[in-house]
Formats: sequence, structure tokens, C-alpha cells
Amino acid sequence: MASVTNSSSSSKERVPFIAGNWKMNLDHLQSIAFVQKLAWTLGDARVDFGGVEVAVFPPFTDLRSVQTLVNADDLPLAFGGQDVSAFDSGAYTGEISAAFLKALDATYVIVGHSERRMYHGETDEQIAAKVAAAHRFDVIPIICVGETADDLEQHGPSAVPVGQLRTALGGAARGKPIVVAYEPVWAIGSGQPATSAQAQQVATALRSTVGEALGDEAAAATRILYGGSVKAGNIAGFMAEPDVDGALVGGASLQLDEFASIVRFQKHIVA
Ligand code: PEP
Repeated sequence: MASVTNSSSSSKERVPFIAGNWKMNLDHLQSIAFVQKLAWTLGDARVDFGGVEVAVFPPFTDLRSVQTLVNADDLPLAFGGQDVSAFDSGAYTGEISAAFLKALDATYVIVGHSERRMYHGETDEQIAAKVAAAHRFDVIPIICVGETADDLEQHGPSAVPVGQLRTALGGAARGKPIVVAYEPVWAIGSGQPATSAQAQQVATALRSTVGEALGDEAAAATRILYGGSVKAGNIAGFMAEPDVDGALVGGASLQLDEFASIVRFQKHIVA
């Protein structure tokens, strides 16, 4: 499995990370077929997994099936949950503990996705508590932040995501890895991605925020993803930016060939 390396933000030595958020799509049987085909497709394309880390985020009910397949066939894919409880165990009906994710070999968990904020009213403080829960069990939180179109108009591009991240990092344990995903709400599922320059501008501000909260080493090592209408046709532009280390992909992660093409972004870069 590819690992995060320490580096300055300009040298891009952080291992690129392409993450597919399936949202509420694909049951456990469909997930097995999808992961198997994804692994074959990436293998046929001779993807160098030392040069890119790929992870999928299936619904909770699929995780055991995905784990079994990945472990049995030794597939070069990571996986994680789409959310996690702030609590470790107890009377929290419907919630999933970070301990349970860890027991299924989940490397990552998405926290604070805008759909959780929007439909479940998750606050920055709750998200900080989820980051803390993930770190208690050595699951790496992918902290999602991003502004709405109104926020953008009223506060400019960075203020809201930076504020969200600052609070979320209150739950982070020093020395434990995090991933940050900048996902402008107006770009998610809209077919209207941010420009790569916009993504870079906010990613720089987010990296500084990580530095303020967790120190320079953490800032240099933390991978910052862009998410919002990423496709094979625009991924290379984002990846060319010095502070964008990967993508959190929603809709396009469910289209096998499109997702495989996003993973192979290096092939799209014309020298
Ligand atoms: C997402 O849901 O995190 C996302 C980025 O979705 P999409 O790629 O479909 O915009």
C-alpha cells in the first residue's frame, strides 16, 4: 500500500491519492463485482501503485465483502467508511464505531462530507469529535470541507473551508495522519468543477491551517484532495497544481472506465 511521505508542498512528493466515494450506491454483491473489475482494469493498464494510491468508500453493508475480496486476492486497493460515529460503543442506534471500521481493515473514513452536513445537520464540532474517534482507532480521517455558492459570494473562496477545517482539527491527534478534501458544495454533482487555480488557492490556505494546528511537518505530509465533478477530462489539471494531491470522486467513481482513467491521470499529462 502506498504511504504518505513527508515533503514540502512544492515538491509534490506526497503519494497522489484517488478516492472513490460511492455514496448510497452498489450493494455488497455489486461491490464485489465492481472491485474485482476495477482491480483487473487497473492491472491491465499496468497502473504503478507506488505512484498512486486508490481507495474506495462503499456503503457500510459492503465493507466486509470488500475487505474479504481485497485481502483474499491481495488487491492493491484501500477502502474505508463514508462516515463514523463520534462514540466508540454503546446506545447509539444506527451508528458505526471507528473500532468496527478498524476491525474490517478500513484504512480511512470520510468525515464531514457535505451531504452529512446538509442532510444530517452535522456541525463542525461533531466532525471534530469524529476525527478524534477515527484517530483513537488509527483510522485515517478524510476531513471534507467546502463552501456553498452563497458562502462563496459572501465570504470569498477560503474563509468557510478554512474555518471548518480549523474546528475539525481540534479533534486530531498530533502525529497521526489526516487527509483533507476540499469539496466546494456548488461543484459536487453539478458538472461544474472548480477551476484548478481555485482548487490550488483553497488547498494552499488549508495546508497553512493544518500547519497552524498540527505543525509544519504535518502540513507538508498531509494530502489535500479536490472533489466536485472530477472526471477523466479534468483530473490532470487539478493534479498539476502544487498543493492538490488527489481527488475525492463521487459520480465518476461508479463508472468503471471513467474512474480507471482518473486513476491513470499521469497518462493525460502532455509534457
Ligand atoms: C462527492 O460526493 O464527494 C463528490 C465529489 O461528488 P461528484 O464527484 O459527483 O461531484
